[in-house]
Amino acid sequence: FRRLRENMRKTREALTSEITATLFEDLDEETWEKLEEALIAADVGARTTAEIVEQLEQEADRGDLAGGEQLTARLTELLADVARVGEPRIDLTPSPTVLLVVGVNGTGKTTSVGKLAWHLRKELGQKVVLGAADTFRAAAVEQLEEWSRRADVRFVKGPPDSDPASVAYETVSTGVREGADVIIVDTAGRLHTQDNLMAELAKVRRVITKQLPDAPHETLITVDATTGQNGLRQAKLFAEAVDVSGIVLTKLDGTAKGGIALAIARELEIPVKMIGIGEQLEDLRPFDPDDFARALLS
Ligand code: GDP
Repeated sequence: FRRLRENMRKTREALTSEITATLFEDLDEETWEKLEEALIAADVGARTTAEIVEQLEQEADRGDLAGGEQLTARLTELLADVARVGEPRIDLTPSPTVLLVVGVNGTGKTTSVGKLAWHLRKELGQKVVLGAADTFRAAAVEQLEEWSRRADVRFVKGPPDSDPASVAYETVSTGVREGADVIIVDTAGRLHTQDNLMAELAKVRRVITKQLPDAPHETLITVDATTGQNGLRQAKLFAEAVDVSGIVLTKLDGTAKGGIALAIARELEIPVKMIGIGEQLEDLRPFDPDDFARALLS
């Protein structure tokens, strides 16, 4: 929690500097205005902000909130409630579990896949096979290979410019043959046109399902938190094209707009499952709504 709190510093400071000023005063019109501004500035989203402020105002009117301290505690609860959508954990019970990872270039997809492999192997003791089905960028394949070395996991790639679906096929069959617990397939990182993307991802999914009828078990999308509402729009486009089951929200350490995690959960009703809070291997964490809300406010 300490590291999460440390790395979420920018958002927390932006939020609390506005809110703390009102902590020792009466809860009045100014409190609500400041709170609203702070939440909007942190990219929590207009709708969610309005609902939260309204709720707090009502509770204060009823005399349920005596002062700033109680306000902060209640705000923490409400933010955590917003973030609590669907199933927050990646379910690792299927054996093997197949995870597809999608996301626009630059959002931190390659890095997150590497960190995820490391997390699964080092912290959860899983046997991991990683496949580079984002075959469009040779540099991305190399970068992923380097991450797989660092994470010390099995790596599968195809010849340059090979068909993403054939790499996905090879990755899954390698994983099955070698008794992997988790198979991660890194897929297309570009969004030329929605049709194009949909066709490619559909084909990737088809070859996977052909080998393992229940797979892929999760489709995760990486979203760059520093792009705020734009990231939200990207995620929406992907979610319309493929059946996204979870979000990996990256670069939360680099932004004062970490509230975007809540806007995404709320708008898309897709759970944030992992968060990236730095460039180290260990800086990808399971998302915990309560810890996240606490890190934002205390
Ligand atoms: P891709 O094009 O989506 O595969 O993106 P990359 O994985 O290459 O990441 C793009 C840049 O974002 C790299 O410089 C990464 O080090 C950086 N990055 C990725 N995740 C995080 C994160 O959680 N925090 C920070 N600070 N940087 C990150």
